Amino acid sequence: MQAEVLVSIAHHQVDKVFYYNIPPSLAGRVQVGSRVLVPFGRRKIEGYVVGLNPAPNQEELKDLAALLDEDPVFTPLQLALARWMAAYYLCPTVKALRAIIWPLLQIKGPKKVKGLWPAVCGNVPDPRRAPKSAAVWEVIQARPGLTRKELAEAAGVSPRVVDSMVARGLLTSKERIELRDPCRNLPEKRSFPPVLYGEQLRAVKKIIEALDKNDGRHVFLLHGVTGSGKTEVYLQAIAAALNRGKQAIVLVPEIALTPQMIDIFRSRFGHQVAVLHSRLSDGERYDEYHRLRTGEAKVVLGARSAIFSPLEKPGLIILDEEHEPSYKQEESPRYHARTVALRLAGYTGAVVVLGSATPSLESYCQAAGGGTYQLLELNQRVGELTLPSVHLIDLRRELRKGNKGIFSEALQEAITDRLSRREQVILFLNRRGYSTLVVCRECGLVLKCPHCDISLTYHASGRLRCHYCNYSVMAPSLCPGCGSHYVAYLGMGTQKVEQEIRRLFPAARVLRLDSDTVGRRGAHREIIETFREGEADILVGTQMVAKGLDIPGVTLVGVINADISLHMPDFRASERTFQLLTQVAGRSGRGKKKGEVMIQTYSPEHYAITCAQNHDYRGFYRREMAMRRALGYPPFTHLARLLVTGKLEREVQEAADFLAQAVRTTNAPVELLGPAPAPIGRIKDRYRWHLVLKAPVQNFLREAATAALNDFYNMSNYRRVQVSIDIAPQSM
Ligand code: ADP
Ligand code: ZN
Ligand code: ZN
Repeated sequence: MQAEVLVSIAHHQVDKVFYYNIPPSLAGRVQVGSRVLVPFGRRKIEGYVVGLNPAPNQEELKDLAALLDEDPVFTPLQLALARWMAAYYLCPTVKALRAIIWPLLQIKGPKKVKGLWPAVCGNVPDPRRAPKSAAVWEVIQARPGLTRKELAEAAGVSPRVVDSMVARGLLTSKERIELRDPCRNLPEKRSFPPVLYGEQLRAVKKIIEALDKNDGRHVFLLHGVTGSGKTEVYLQAIAAALNRGKQAIVLVPEIALTPQMIDIFRSRFGHQVAVLHSRLSDGERYDEYHRLRTGEAKVVLGARSAIFSPLEKPGLIILDEEHEPSYKQEESPRYHARTVALRLAGYTGAVVVLGSATPSLESYCQAAGGGTYQLLELNQRVGELTLPSVHLIDLRRELRKGNKGIFSEALQEAITDRLSRREQVILFLNRRGYSTLVVCRECGLVLKCPHCDISLTYHASGRLRCHYCNYSVMAPSLCPGCGSHYVAYLGMGTQKVEQEIRRLFPAARVLRLDSDTVGRRGAHREIIETFREGEADILVGTQMVAKGLDIPGVTLVGVINADISLHMPDFRASERTFQLLTQVAGRSGRGKKKGEVMIQTYSPEHYAITCAQNHDYRGFYRREMAMRRALGYPPFTHLARLLVTGKLEREVQEAADFLAQAVRTTNAPVELLGPAPAPIGRIKDRYRWHLVLKAPVQNFLREAATAALNDFYNMSNYRRVQVSIDIAPQSM
């Protein structure tokens, strides 16, 4: 027998299969999916078996050196996905494969403990003569497998009582695997499905019909306003899938994978749910992964990479907040979880449900513009609730009135009012830190990161920080350029908002939620729970407060500055702004009282802002589509981006020029934009140039990029620069 092996070496050009003999010692144990060690040159390296063929042993082939795990590390379905991903995103197959199976590659292995069981022929202790032993006996009957300590604790006796029972042969001890359950400390709650209202019921029915057809041709776009009960639609669709013996994958953006979300799924489906996210320990991740592989867990709730979960055959795939940029992985393989989900559904026949209050233009035009998706709409909030009323506050007028503060008069009054009524407030600003720009008023010097083309952010700790490479330095008291005292701290972040709020409303209880405050494990949960329980009045935060929070006490949402995302150098800037504003506004008025939203902006006439004000998704869609059509951007065209990075600016620029020339000489009908410096021209000491390719058909982009890269690797000498390809980039 021969094994076809992909080897794990980081080299762009090696995407080929190598053949090895399977020595007799490994015969029958090596399978497709096995991780092996193979001789490669003078070294031994890791490889993955992707095929077996019965050809007779050949003399010139080397033997596999070792089998690294007894069980395969990937399934045939995962291999198929890896192969597709490599071809679609133009990356080495082994890289795609490693991205898929990484939870297993960090193997810590299962945790083993000694558990105790009642001995089969032991005498039952008499409760009158040996009450302690009897108590232990009662517990172990109900919960066999407990450890010595757990058992003693549960029975309320000293561990020595347990020891003596083992000595007397009443209990036997065996090794067992202990699952590290990320939710083990959470209270067990049970929730029951509510009665669905009309539109929800219709949506669930349609999904169930598709589940029963089982033909892999059903993609639904669930467009439901904030608070319309999309999650309940997912839950009941999943219940239907489970009833039919199917498995489900539920993706949510990392930031929305809040404890609240996990609780909702756990309380409905109990231990059938496995949770995968980046805050798990390696051990917990391994165990959740294991529960999925063995089929013990049938629903996976996770962030982006959970799309690769080793389920045997997922029948339902749900992407909540399908428009979220975090579904795109920004390193190779640069996949989009939605695209992968659609492909996976093609393989397994699964039904796909994409849910959002603000669908991506790409998805909405597939659903509404005569594409292949089916549109399901939830136009109302659950129950008697209405959408909040949204007011725009023109910051230019505030300036004219002489108000240079962070809060407009109207927003301040509204906060005062809520505090007096003991209602809660969320304040949103999509920037963390204290001041986002530190500049000398004397000579104009802007303090920048020495490693990146980015200005440093001042933090309340007194340090300046780079948000791209985490470089930090004490804030200087004098200008490092001219020595003047006039160093100004401009541009505000969430820390400054928090400080201002504490100054203006000293009696208010304030919390802040941003990546600076959730560093500690469990901190995220604590902040949200504290706020939820009503133990704080005001929550200040970045986009972490915009996603998914369902807190009934909140009746006011204030957007400190809506323009931050509007002026990004990115063709999706308007779409992102509209989405962010709609999402954060949707946090208001989810309890019994009507909600209000105040959006502060310098551009109150921009359609991204007025449409968000009017809860007008379709209006926004029409305006933005017209713009994209006029400028030739997706969804009317396809894009690919080649990013060139390196330590020497001149080399990077020359390499980009070479690539551009190579693209021009291919015959592929693509339009080339650039080469030009990327919007952030340097990160972590590497200069960045890019080329953007546009084409009516995505495959033209692949042809052009592949040809250009081949030229580049074969004919040019820029060994120190790196080129990466991004098919369908989410941002520039
Ligand atoms: P969305 O995700 O669309 O913003 P949610 O799923 O958070 O909305 O639902 C809003 C609230 O309404 C939640 O508290 C949810 O439990 C509740 N809910 C959803 N559907 C129903 C229903 N049919 N009956 C009663 N309450 C519901
Ligand atoms: Zn100066
Ligand atoms: Zn930096």
